[in-house]
Amino acid sequence: MKKNIIVSFLLMIGSFTYSFAQNDVSAKVESLLKKMSLEEKVGQMTQVTLDVIGEGEDRYSSFEPFNLDKEQVIKAVSQYKVGSFLNTANNRALTPKKWYEVIKEIQDINKDETKLGIPIIYGVDQIHGATYTAGATMFPQQIAQGASRNPELVEKGAAITAYETRASGISWNFSPVLDLGMDPRFSRMWESFGEDPYLISSLGVAMIDGYEGKDNTIGDPEHLASTLKHFLGYHAVTSGKDRTPSYIPEDVLREYHLPPFKAAIEAGAHTIMVNSGIINGVPVHANYELLTELLKNELGFEGLVVTDWADIENLHRRDRIAKNDREAIKMAINAGVDMSMVPYEYERFFDNLVALVKDGEVKEERIDDAVRRILKVKYELNLFETPVTHYKDYPKFGSKEFEQAAYDMAAESITLLKNEDNILPINKSSKVLVTGPNANSMRTLNGAWTYSWQGEKTEEFAGAYNTILEAVQNKIGEEKVTYVPGVNYVKDGKYYEDEKDQFDEAIAAAQGVDYIFLCVGENSYTEKPGDLNDLYISDNQTELAKKLAATGKPVIMILNEGRPRIISKFEKDVEGIIQVYLPGNFGGDALADILFGDVNPSGKLPYNYPRYPNALIPYIHKHSEEQTASEGVYNYEADYSPQFSFGDGLSYTTFKVSDLKLEQSSIKKNEELKLEVTVTNTGERAGKEVVEIYTSDLYATEITPDVKRLRRFKKVDLQPGESKTLHFTIPSKDLAYFNTEGKPVIEAGEFEIMVKDLKQKFEIE
Ligand code: BGC
Repeated sequence: MKKNIIVSFLLMIGSFTYSFAQNDVSAKVESLLKKMSLEEKVGQMTQVTLDVIGEGEDRYSSFEPFNLDKEQVIKAVSQYKVGSFLNTANNRALTPKKWYEVIKEIQDINKDETKLGIPIIYGVDQIHGATYTAGATMFPQQIAQGASRNPELVEKGAAITAYETRASGISWNFSPVLDLGMDPRFSRMWESFGEDPYLISSLGVAMIDGYEGKDNTIGDPEHLASTLKHFLGYHAVTSGKDRTPSYIPEDVLREYHLPPFKAAIEAGAHTIMVNSGIINGVPVHANYELLTELLKNELGFEGLVVTDWADIENLHRRDRIAKNDREAIKMAINAGVDMSMVPYEYERFFDNLVALVKDGEVKEERIDDAVRRILKVKYELNLFETPVTHYKDYPKFGSKEFEQAAYDMAAESITLLKNEDNILPINKSSKVLVTGPNANSMRTLNGAWTYSWQGEKTEEFAGAYNTILEAVQNKIGEEKVTYVPGVNYVKDGKYYEDEKDQFDEAIAAAQGVDYIFLCVGENSYTEKPGDLNDLYISDNQTELAKKLAATGKPVIMILNEGRPRIISKFEKDVEGIIQVYLPGNFGGDALADILFGDVNPSGKLPYNYPRYPNALIPYIHKHSEEQTASEGVYNYEADYSPQFSFGDGLSYTTFKVSDLKLEQSSIKKNEELKLEVTVTNTGERAGKEVVEIYTSDLYATEITPDVKRLRRFKKVDLQPGESKTLHFTIPSKDLAYFNTEGKPVIEAGEFEIMVKDLKQKFEIE
């Protein structure tokens, strides 16, 4: 009792201090805003990329080594009052020391050359570790993190990324991606946590907690401001190609796309980036309903809304919804954009916006609202006191401790998809052939956004880490490993171009070994350059797989890819399949540990892996998509047969779930369902298992229900023979669906709960 009183008292003090700090920030923002001219306000809304202020031939590139062009910095911050910069220069990672020098110099010039000295906010895409910092710890990409089903590891990784980003003097990270990765045709599927809104919400919140701290104390020099992206529906393009139109009805938008953003906003995330695409004919950057009515008014988002790259000028130049740049700027700012990632022609943005306000076409209140949001983030980041953090204060940068966390995430995400006759793990005395275009590449292990945008500079920076080949050699000794590429990616070619490279030698080399490790997949890519026309894995890789399988030697296929490339032409010919996704700098080591049994795999697919290009049905789908038979003269059936399903992932041990017990058989619309289920390790080895709780709404009246939906999950570690009973609570509001007007409906009726093969019905009254 006494303890309770003390706890409540402490909580009271905590919330009092918090609201006091908030009032304090608001008072500071208001007082500063009063002192600002229109030009100073518009400058705060302007974000410019680093090359523009670097010494170089033009504003699109810089000389190496990079140096700031002082005149250009002065022009930007003093004449145009620019309040934010982003990105690296020449598309190349910098060392923490170099970052410090660059940002310190910008902040110093800004302080000296401007009346108010409002600090610059600097933003970068550090999306799987500190992407643009040489020597930083590269984690598996988000799609792999989704497979880990481990929110604690996600949070830890994000905390390390925040630390290493602050060690680079940067306090704003354009991460996490909360889009639904439900379309393998899309070039950024791997930047998401997978296809499920609940999975994305849980891991998204964990990532924000890691970046911002659980209580969003972004002023802490080890935390930073996160960015939710890309609001909203970015991956749902009809054509499968980046930045092409989406058609998303209200119920779909709210049922699937919105929940992760809603959860992240409730978790206190400070900034959000707008979807570069077009929904229902309207570019999102010009969409008042989405940016102001939904995001700011309905969801109550109080943070900063930044555009994506060049997306205001795109309203005119690409999407042709504005007849000139001035109209484009007017549309976007009036729709609710607070900061424009210009990123090059900042004078044009600045001059036009100042004129628009003077001419009364953009109200000054709108500008004030935008600037308040920007200043609030700057104050909360503590930039006024510490405009740049110093790399010397971050001794753990690139440390063994951090590397271990990246390794752990790789080890928990790698997913064993096929293990015929328990061929894996493999005895360490075996002789192996390591082959395929992904066998000896750090670039493919990391994917894009690694030391450069498309990841093409990875070998230059990541030489100290192990490729799959090197990790296998370290594990069993070089003498037992034969390496012949067979196929390789075309150097400086398009990411999807590969060619034969000692092809016949690779087939011949199979004769001398016990096993073949066939490392296939994709080279690195993102965004528009990552558009794809053929989802089948390449012809050369297919031929290599078939010919190797025909040798009769057992083939373990390692998939190293950002999206599931179709393998059905030869899948049946290989004995083992391991999906490593884009596992980062320690992915090779983690894979070798799994191949030879030092680690028991526990990753689970975060998407449905398609079998055919015309069958891209996600796990969230309707009954008609998997209908087995229709009775009558004209029998037909829907051919729902993914190669692998969401949630698939084998272990070297076996697990059993039992004793599914629901506390109530029926609940009211304002109540919650409580349930428990027991999971037992029935095999011989210790292992981790993910228990996933799905529900089905058996009949719904307004919208046809999904076959099943993930509602909760938990990962547990079990010794052989050990059992754990897990408890879950699901409020009935989580079982609502959205109707065509976008309203949530909790409907009375029968539901089913499913945990692996166990099923039980319950009712909502
Ligand atoms: C991408 C964003 C990224 C931004 C800044 C854009 O092209 O779509 O995800 O944050 O560039 O680098």
